[in-house]
Amino acid sequence: MSTPTAGSAATPATIERTPEGWRAPGIANLHSHAFQRAMAGLAERQTHPEDSFWTWRETMYRMAGRFDPDSLHAVASQLYVEMLEAGYTGVCEFHYLHHAPDGRPYDDPAAMSRALIAAARETGIRLTLLPVLYMTGGFDGRPLGERQKRFGHDVDGYLRLFETLRAEAGDLLRVGCALHSLRAVPPEAMHAVLAALPADARIHIHISEQIGEVQDCLAIRDLRPVEWLLRNAELDARWTLVHATHLNDGEVDGIARSGATVAICPTTEANLGDGLFRLRDHLDAGGAWGIGSDSHISVSPVEELRWLEYGQRLATRRRNIAVAPGSPGVGVTLLRGALASAPQATGFDATDDAIVLDADAPILAAASADDVIERWIFSGNRPLVREVHVAGRQVVADGRHPQRDAVAGRYADALRRLLRD
Ligand SMILES: [Zn+2]
Repeated sequence: MSTPTAGSAATPATIERTPEGWRAPGIANLHSHAFQRAMAGLAERQTHPEDSFWTWRETMYRMAGRFDPDSLHAVASQLYVEMLEAGYTGVCEFHYLHHAPDGRPYDDPAAMSRALIAAARETGIRLTLLPVLYMTGGFDGRPLGERQKRFGHDVDGYLRLFETLRAEAGDLLRVGCALHSLRAVPPEAMHAVLAALPADARIHIHISEQIGEVQDCLAIRDLRPVEWLLRNAELDARWTLVHATHLNDGEVDGIARSGATVAICPTTEANLGDGLFRLRDHLDAGGAWGIGSDSHISVSPVEELRWLEYGQRLATRRRNIAVAPGSPGVGVTLLRGALASAPQATGFDATDDAIVLDADAPILAAASADDVIERWIFSGNRPLVREVHVAGRQVVADGRHPQRDAVAGRYADALRRLLRD
């Protein structure tokens, strides 16, 4: 199925009524660990009265240790079908599951990356593949733990992988760089990798997701994580800071001034008990931001945008927080913000991506261009995306990806293998 579309250049947050339905731009998912979709819902039982991100990570490491290229392909394919059907037309894959479980590289050191590339190609989603540099188990430089060994590279090995993947880039594939976090990348290694990157490479990093990470960074580097990064790297529009949850005022201003994008992942940050991003302060400072589904506890841009706003409302006991001058509608302002940052965060100028919402859905009855986005974001639980077009090619029709059933079958087989004791 590859029906050419009219090729209309969608501009941020424009929505128009067409004979097919309400047509809007496609949405970029700025942060994904595809394999984690397989554990969604499997870490919601209390294992300890003080359950936290760190106890969740134990469950995640157990799951990560079971993947091979075939199961990663099956899980990523299912995830990408779900993303497309939900209205995401591109994904930034923050990929650190590089080697075999014992830490030895596969015969093809890029085998796991190629599983993600194949899943994206077969399902038709844009992929910004971000191979992750992961070197140490903490700010003190301790070696990787047993279960982290399959994530690890030295600088030369990492750059070889980066170059191998970069040669694969094409119309729907960009290759950028991810630094796992400051705790996983020593300063000298960070500088060496940054110096070797091509000028147009996008750079993503997890930062300030957890208070413990801020405290460790202060203890060992004398600065908070974002402060340290602002002083030790030339942050600019090529950078995407993932989470940036715990910020002081100077960090909020520094990020906004740098031009870097913040990838906010509201459903994962809620699920993991991370904390709340300082959205209003970031907007007031003129900062760029987008959304990611990260652990994929939810795969829905609607839910990410809705909870981005709802978190702020719960914390401030006020309504309608994410607005901007000339843009009083929260849904429109949120969608516009997410769309505006996408080219710099993903490396794609995806102006020929589009989604079409079901104009016959009851919650869009008598809708106008002025209220349809607010209704979509705030009142919908039934998926309203009927069509999805990526680079002018239709990949979802009547709400369904054409490979939905075949992909789901392979996913179910993979899950049975992954969950077997
Ligand atoms: Zn992440």
